[in-house]
Amino acid sequence: MKALPKSLKNAISALQGLPGLGEKSATRIAMYLLDSPQERVKEFCDALLKMKQSIRRCRDCFHLSDDDLCPVCSDPARDPQQICVVETTSDLLSIEQADFFKGRYHVLGGTLDPINNISPEDLTIPQLLDRIKRDRVKEIIIATNPTQQGEATAHYLVEVLKEFPVTVTRIGVGIPMGGDLKYIDPVTIRLALEARRSFP
Ligand SMILES: [Zn+2]
Repeated sequence: MKALPKSLKNAISALQGLPGLGEKSATRIAMYLLDSPQERVKEFCDALLKMKQSIRRCRDCFHLSDDDLCPVCSDPARDPQQICVVETTSDLLSIEQADFFKGRYHVLGGTLDPINNISPEDLTIPQLLDRIKRDRVKEIIIATNPTQQGEATAHYLVEVLKEFPVTVTRIGVGIPMGGDLKYIDPVTIRLALEARRSFP
């Protein structure tokens, strides 16, 4: 794009590095910012920088946080004796969006993966065990994803947690709402049958 001034070209290529933004969208956003008042653009940049400087991991659950404790861990209404174990912060946010779970979380930071040398100590599993002891946790809900690594991590946790007086449950996996059995893969159907329950 020879016709573009250098500074605009730089802005476009910076935006283009963001996930989901191709050259066209990046150009559209750059043009939009160019047409916006200086103050708006400054606010936008400041917000990004502030986020980058401020965000760290919560001391207890490893969710993202501006402070020592994240908004979930510092909420007294959330039950500290019920912990939902997730792989990532994005998984945590998905569960929060459902607005149903009233316990707390523990973000593992990934899954066990022997091929890539990811062991329990590389995840936050030791810290989870410390929390269970400290807060006398009653229930652990394992909400790792139904992938090979997610299942392996769930099985590992079940084994380790046998030493503790906690109830260990696994989130159900099955047919999505609005789904159609015709189009569901056999593994999902098998898991859905395993997770079947009686009508209340
Ligand atoms: Zn937290």
